[in-house]
Amino acid sequence: MQATQLVWLRNDLRLDDHPALALAAAQGPIQVLFCATPKQWQQHHESPAKLGLRAASLQDIADRLASLGIVFHLIEVEYFADVAAKLAKFCQQQQSSDIWFQAETPLNEQRRDQAVTDALTKAKINVHRLAEDLMVSLPVKTQQNEPFKVFTPYYRRWLQILEDTQQVPYSEPKAQGKAISPTLLKCEWAGRFREDLWPASEQKALERLSSFCEIKIIDYKNHRNFPIKPSTSMLSPWLANGQLGPRRLLTTIQYHCFEASRDWRHDDWLRELAWRDFYKQLLLYFPRLSMGKAFKPETDQIIWRNDDAGFKAWCEGKTGFPIVDAAMRQLNQTGWMHNRLRMLTASFLSKLLLLDWRLGEQYFMNTLIDGEFAANNGGWQWSASTGVDASPYFRVFNPALQSERYDAKGQFIKRFVPELIDVPIKLIHTPPPALREQCGYPHPIVDYKYARAEAIATFKLVSSSEQGTLLHD
Ligand SMILES: Cc1cc2nc3c(=O)[nH]c(=O)nc-3n(C[C@H](O)[C@H](O)[C@H](O)COP(=O)(O)OP(=O)(O)OC[C@H]3O[C@@H](n4cnc5c(N)ncnc54)[C@H](O)[C@@H]3O)c2cc1C
Repeated sequence: MQATQLVWLRNDLRLDDHPALALAAAQGPIQVLFCATPKQWQQHHESPAKLGLRAASLQDIADRLASLGIVFHLIEVEYFADVAAKLAKFCQQQQSSDIWFQAETPLNEQRRDQAVTDALTKAKINVHRLAEDLMVSLPVKTQQNEPFKVFTPYYRRWLQILEDTQQVPYSEPKAQGKAISPTLLKCEWAGRFREDLWPASEQKALERLSSFCEIKIIDYKNHRNFPIKPSTSMLSPWLANGQLGPRRLLTTIQYHCFEASRDWRHDDWLRELAWRDFYKQLLLYFPRLSMGKAFKPETDQIIWRNDDAGFKAWCEGKTGFPIVDAAMRQLNQTGWMHNRLRMLTASFLSKLLLLDWRLGEQYFMNTLIDGEFAANNGGWQWSASTGVDASPYFRVFNPALQSERYDAKGQFIKRFVPELIDVPIKLIHTPPPALREQCGYPHPIVDYKYARAEAIATFKLVSSSEQGTLLHD
């Protein structure tokens, strides 16, 4: 048997623009491997929907590799801790001379990769551990060689690096011989997901990227905050699965900006992709973020409330705040939630209910199809004012104002809270008590003004250094 290059896929489920695949294929014949770790995923609260999309994407990859004559292997262990031994044995069985993979930044993933590197090096297998494949994978640091803790200067440096190191997407691997029969993968760990919204196909993801950049990117800044409009890309489930490579994202943006005579460097959507890199890189420099700790240690002194009923109402979308409930029901029904509503519901839980943000973080991971540890942790810590470059603690989103501003006609509310379908626009954001009774819709579980004042007082106790004017958002 000829020695092969083994490519180990993880959160990078694609053939297009894949550095490890392309570099390995340049060395000789490749085989491709995915190692499922269902118990570990359960510990990480990965949602059934996300696992469903993952399983279906693996089948898409296995089928396409088979048509190229490339063997795909799916193996399984329970936990990350079991991966190193399994891979060492597998590489010996398959006579793989080299293994290629792209790093991931959360701590458990880093530890798994180190264990694999040690075990395979000991077994005399060449380990090619590439950096996590971000838009900018190089360390993005300050002039003092420190990680950035504020997004805007990080972004300026990030953009500069992107400009200086223009790269083209890597090509898909070429056929290695005649097509082989595709394997039907057995993924008992997979859950159900909205395949109508996110088909498990790399091709479809690429098409959505192109059409978004062609049609919607130009109005992204003006429309992105209105949840009823499908004006954001909704690419996050595919991005979390790694179905779109960073160079493909960049060149697609650049191409469409060029076509529309716009400067890609000022593109607002590109800036959002930078947030994704920002949060991922932080995990490298601040391991405590992967350990359930707040970025601002003083906020770990907050005594959060115990309120099972409040938490349940929040999870089920029965808080009595129509926009919050519509958002939570969107999450529960589709596995996805609009960004503005993620900020609003997270602020609601951590400030107005004064519940530990980690409860919400976990619920989101358990439910989101696009759950990504770095972005989710970053988003929660931003909203709860415990994180890097976070929202100031005195910023407490006002659900009624947010609703009036971003869902003025209540269309989003009516889509997800059918009890309120007949409520007139002027009452939809805060229906009066009698109308709630009539519609079978709950009364608010907190008094906004009172809860806001309490939240600010609680945060103030531990945040003596932060000052500012009180904001009503
Ligand atoms: C509390 C909270 C939790 C979140 N949890 C996640 C999560 O688990 N997974 C996730 O991908 N995003 C998360 N986000 C960020 C953001 O809400 C989603 O990325 C976005 O809503 C996805 O929709 P889209 O693909 O249409 O985004 P677009 O607006 O089209 O943005 C394009 C891509 O940029 C990235 N992105 C955009 N905004 C952010 C951001 N603030 N932080 C990091 N990346 C960003 C995403 O990959 C997104 O798909 C969270 C935000 C908050 C406030």
